[in-house]
Amino acid sequence: MDYQKILEDIYQEILPYSKDGKQADYIPALAKVNPDQFGMCLETVTGEIFTHKQADTRFSIQSITKVFTLAMCLSIKGEALWKRVGKEPSGTAFNSLVQLEVEKGIPRNPFINAGAIVLSDILISELENPEEEFLSFVRALCGNDEIDYNMEVALSEREKGYLNAAIANMLKYHGTIDNDIERVLMFYFKMCSVEMSCRELAKASLAFTNHSPFEYAGYKLSKSRIKRLNAVMQTCGFYDEAGEFSYLVGLPGKSGVGGGIIAVYPHRYSVAVWSPRLNSKGNSVMGMKALELLTTYTEESIF
Ligand code: GLU
Repeated sequence: MDYQKILEDIYQEILPYSKDGKQADYIPALAKVNPDQFGMCLETVTGEIFTHKQADTRFSIQSITKVFTLAMCLSIKGEALWKRVGKEPSGTAFNSLVQLEVEKGIPRNPFINAGAIVLSDILISELENPEEEFLSFVRALCGNDEIDYNMEVALSEREKGYLNAAIANMLKYHGTIDNDIERVLMFYFKMCSVEMSCRELAKASLAFTNHSPFEYAGYKLSKSRIKRLNAVMQTCGFYDEAGEFSYLVGLPGKSGVGGGIIAVYPHRYSVAVWSPRLNSKGNSVMGMKALELLTTYTEESIF
């Protein structure tokens, strides 16, 4: 399969959409990003790497971080994790309060904000140095010790994070989080602020293709757990557009409001794409199109 040519053809085909959508501006630091950027990287399990455009530009991974948080929590808690958070698609926005209230503070899944805030609370309870441990884990996944938090983005999100604070307060009210609200929120915002490039994200996601034993920085997951983690990405990875992504792309994946998307083709490859302009559901316009064309041109998907 000539993935290099396919990435180049895809880019030409999605150029007409390059001005569609707009970048996330509810986090002031993200509003400053140049929206007219695009990068893509595909890495196969045999170690071949294909890139196009700005595959080495780092960006705010935002909710893609939730995959790493889930992997750590599953490694620590195993199946008991699902007592604290559900694994059903939410069908509502990533920051919705309504569902959380109706369901008495048990988040639908780990990939909506409420779920990830609960997972942040778990890591704070379980680990002596959660910030350091999280970075070590992500650094090990992509084999790069430069990966770091961007404190400007984290603090900027905290400053305007009224809705996430409301979610954390409701979780605390229902007894779903144990630690101090401020501590939990700041750790959550820090994890969202991590910056990585498409090349680094593709490398990190390769671990989720299940092609070799999963053990990074001491965190282990069995093949069966990786399978289940992929199932949660497939059903819950794209906010209230998870069905649409599944329909168009046919791979498990996760997006973030920084405009990044990762997707995994089990036992074959991982791919990361980035372009900051988002559609109304919070997913990258060009990123979604690029992945739709990738599985269409290659005729490869899990279905
Ligand atoms: N830090 C963002 C928030 O909590 C993450 C949202 C996302 O990427 O979906 O609003």
